Amino acid sequence: MDGTFAVLEGRRGQVAAAGEGSPDLACNKPSLAGSVSQRACVFCGSRVVLYPIADAVHLVHGPVGCAAYTWDIRGAVSSGPQLHRLSFSTDLRETDVVFGGEKRLYAALSALIEEHKPRAAFVYSTCIVGLIGDDVAAVCRKVSAERGIPVLPVHSEGFKGTKKDGYRAACDALASLIGTAEPDPLAYRGDPSVADSPFAINILGEFNLAGEAWIIRRYYERMGIRVLSIMTGDGRVDEIRGAHRARLNVVQCSGSMTYLAKEMKEKWGIPFVQVSYFGIDDMAEALYSVAAAFPEEPLIAKRAERLVTEEIGKTLPALQAFRKDLEGKKAAIYVGGAFKARSLVKALRLIGVSTVLVGSQTGNKDDYKDLSGLCDPGTIIVDDSNPAELSRFLLLKGANVFIGGVKERPIAFKLGIGFCDHNHERKIPLAGFEGMINFAREVHASATSPIWRLIERERVREDAK
Ligand code: SF4
Repeated sequence: MDGTFAVLEGRRGQVAAAGEGSPDLACNKPSLAGSVSQRACVFCGSRVVLYPIADAVHLVHGPVGCAAYTWDIRGAVSSGPQLHRLSFSTDLRETDVVFGGEKRLYAALSALIEEHKPRAAFVYSTCIVGLIGDDVAAVCRKVSAERGIPVLPVHSEGFKGTKKDGYRAACDALASLIGTAEPDPLAYRGDPSVADSPFAINILGEFNLAGEAWIIRRYYERMGIRVLSIMTGDGRVDEIRGAHRARLNVVQCSGSMTYLAKEMKEKWGIPFVQVSYFGIDDMAEALYSVAAAFPEEPLIAKRAERLVTEEIGKTLPALQAFRKDLEGKKAAIYVGGAFKARSLVKALRLIGVSTVLVGSQTGNKDDYKDLSGLCDPGTIIVDDSNPAELSRFLLLKGANVFIGGVKERPIAFKLGIGFCDHNHERKIPLAGFEGMINFAREVHASATSPIWRLIERERVREDAK
C-alpha cells in the first residue's frame, strides 16, 4: 500500500485498498485508544435500535449527560404516539453514586408510567450504573409487577464494549418482549387481517427515518405481504410482542439486527433474509427475496416483478439528468453498517459516480471482502475510522462528495467537500425506488453546488501567496 496511507500502528490491519493484497480486514475490535473513533458508545447503540418504539417510555438511568443523545439526533418518525421523542433520565448525582440509584430509578419509572401510560418501558444502564452496581433488573421486575406492563432492562453500560455490543443489548431486550402475547387483530392500525395472515413478515433494522419504513411497507403490501411488525421503525410494543407469528424476518441493518434474527430462528423457527433498501438493484432484490420465501403463492412473485418493472420504469429516466452532470465525480462513504455501504457503492455507480473511499463503524470480514470485490481497484476500505484518517484519505483521493452522518458532516465542511447526509438527521427518504431519485438529487446538489467554484478560487489565491 502507498506510504501516504499512513495510519496509527495499531490500526494497520483495518485499512486496505481494493485490489491490493488480501481483502481480509481486521474488524470487530475495540477502538484504538488515541484514534478518536467515529463510533458512539454501547448505550448509544442500544438507544439507536430501541428508541423508534413509539409507545414505550425510554428511561436513561445515569447522569443527565448520557441522555443528551436524543430523538433529535435520530429522527425515527411515528404514525401515532410520540412518546419516544421525549428524553427521560434519572439524572444521577453524587449522592446516588455513593448510596445507590435504585430508589431514584423506581421513583422515576413509577412516575413516568403513571403520567404517560406507556405500553412498555425500557431502562438503559449507563457507565456509572455498571460501576455502582444498581440491580436494574430487580427494579424493572418490581415495577412491571406493580404496573402490569413489560419493563425491560437494557444492559448497555458504555464501557462494556463497542456500539455493536449496544445493538446486542437492545436485541436481548426485544427478544424478551417477543412472544409474550399473541397477535391482536386490533393492534394492526386498522387492518385486522394482518394478525392471522399466512404471508406475514417482520421488518428488522429499518428505522423509519423520514418515513422510509412506510415506503417499504407499501411495496410489500402491493405484493400481498402483510407486515406484522417493523420493530425498529414506527414500532409498537403490542406488534413486537406478537412478532413470533411471522413467517419470515427481513433484516435491513445487518450489523444491528442479525443477532435477533438468529435468536428468533432458533427459538421460533422463523427464517430470515438480509436485504438493503438502498439503490434500485438492492431494493428489487429485497422484494424478490421476500417473494421467494412464499413459493406456495406464485402471485406474490408475479406482483413483485410487476412492481419492480413499474418502479424502475419511472426511476431510471429520472436519474439520467443527474447522471449527465455527475459522470466522473468521486464519492467517499463512511456509514454505520457495511451492508448499506455496499448498496451505496452500487447506487453511486448507477449515477456515474465512482467510490474512492468506503468504510463503516461495524462491518465484518465478509462485508469488507464483498466491498473489496465490488469497488474499483485502489478504493480505500476502512473499518472503525477516525477524523484524522478520513480527512487525509478524502484529500488524497480527491473526493467531490462525502456521504456519511452527523459526525462526518463537519469533516466534509472543514475540508470544503460536498456532504450528503445518509444517516439519522435527514428529513428526506433515501430508501426504495423514490428514495434513489432523492439520493441522486442530494448527491447532485452537493457535488455540483456553485460554492465549490468559490472555494477553488480561494485555494488558487492561497497558492498564489
Ligand atoms: S460512554 Fe458511558 S458515560 Fe458516556 S454517554 Fe455512554 S453510557 Fe454515558
